[in-house]
Amino acid sequence: MKNQLFIYNTLTRKKELFESIIPDRVGLYVCGPTVYGDPHLGHARPAITFDILFRYLTHCGYKVRYVRNITDVGHLVNDADSGEDKIAKKARLDDLEPMEVVQYYLNRYHKAMEALNVLPPSIEPHASGHIIEQIQLVKDILEQGFAYESEGSVYFDVEKYDKQYHYGVLSGRNIEDMLNTTRELDGQEEKRKSIDFALWKKASPEHIMRWPSPWSDGFPGWHLECTAMSKKYLGEVFDIHGGGMDLIFPHHECEIAQSMASTGHEGVRYWMHNNMITVNGQKMGKSLGNFINLAQFFEGTHELLTQSYAPMTIRFFILQAHYRSTVDFSNEALQASEKGLARLLEAFEAIDKLQPSLLGEGLKEGLVADLLAKSLDAMNDDLNTPIVISYLFEAARTINSALAGQMQVSAEDIQQLKDFFQLFLFDLLGITNELKSGNASYESFAKAVDMLLQLRMQAKQNKDWATSDKIRNELTALGFEIKDTKEGFEWKLNQ
Ligand SMILES: [Zn+2]
Repeated sequence: MKNQLFIYNTLTRKKELFESIIPDRVGLYVCGPTVYGDPHLGHARPAITFDILFRYLTHCGYKVRYVRNITDVGHLVNDADSGEDKIAKKARLDDLEPMEVVQYYLNRYHKAMEALNVLPPSIEPHASGHIIEQIQLVKDILEQGFAYESEGSVYFDVEKYDKQYHYGVLSGRNIEDMLNTTRELDGQEEKRKSIDFALWKKASPEHIMRWPSPWSDGFPGWHLECTAMSKKYLGEVFDIHGGGMDLIFPHHECEIAQSMASTGHEGVRYWMHNNMITVNGQKMGKSLGNFINLAQFFEGTHELLTQSYAPMTIRFFILQAHYRSTVDFSNEALQASEKGLARLLEAFEAIDKLQPSLLGEGLKEGLVADLLAKSLDAMNDDLNTPIVISYLFEAARTINSALAGQMQVSAEDIQQLKDFFQLFLFDLLGITNELKSGNASYESFAKAVDMLLQLRMQAKQNKDWATSDKIRNELTALGFEIKDTKEGFEWKLNQ
């Protein structure tokens, strides 16, 4: 397989040529959402980033097994080893069964991802469905001597592990600094050291999410699920593990430690991390009032938004930055993306209006082929989508010049331009053509209803009550609500 994809490996801190373990297959694992709240921008970015990778690897001819988990147990409120389980807390506040919380927000997550045209992964395993595998992993780590039991809980012995391996290999942190800076939290005195992390936690009497284990009735530590499930579905060693940069420490550092400790070798070949999102230059946070969820973007219902933004505007905006750069959301920036994307889609629509030159003259030889080759180079350079987008704009300018009669195009140029947009804008960047599928068809539909109601007005003026009533009654039967006004009429479709 001919493939020159270079990806930035967080582990080695450099771009490396991607080579899969099995020649034509790729195992990809991405940390998915903890489903206790509405999906927001922080969910959209990794989902879109690894969707691009999934699409591109598939385009390169790989058969990709893409695993993206659902965290439905074990993720505690303060992200460390104390506090309430995030899902159990939400269930308590809303008086629901924890799995009702999980299902409700998982449905909302899927709906938002579909709107963003993020392809579903091959497997979407739930942490709560893999308790047996997680208990086995704790046993393996205990057996290798890198964990200890304390009061019914099991903790990973970071100091002991670090003597043989290297804790901090991914995040660049070192254990001495961590020991000096981590403070002892309440309820953690059962740990030997503050940096030790929980593999299994004994459940307190009021904790409802609990399973039997050799140590106690309890629940798995947050980091355990990804190590256990990636091993189950992708093997002890697999190709790519992805997630947001905020997961590098402690989550991914702990995943590495767990797989090293249990198997004696590294489990992941390439670690990839997308950067974070800020809103108006500030970190997103519930307390800062700038925490905008995806439904609010789509509907324009957050006070910081001056309008609603189509899911494709959000997707395009995220792709206009390289995945390892930060992205700052603002109304101005989103409106610029909205206009930019509309320009590209209009240019694509205009290709069909181009007339091939009768004399067979065309664009400079190789012009479109060159754009295509340069765009592939950009994808191969660690998925450089902003560069790909700049070439799409270049193609759009060419189309507009040809449309204005400033350039001649051949039939072959027209086909190549079409193929170029199809591959990069639609297949690889995953943009859907809303001009075609959404707004445009609605516009035609609305015009047709207006036309019928105009006919009804004319019928009324002619005192042709039979026709006017027939139009009104039949539209009403179809679910339309029609109101006569001074200016004429208003209508809406009740569904
Ligand atoms: Zn994870």
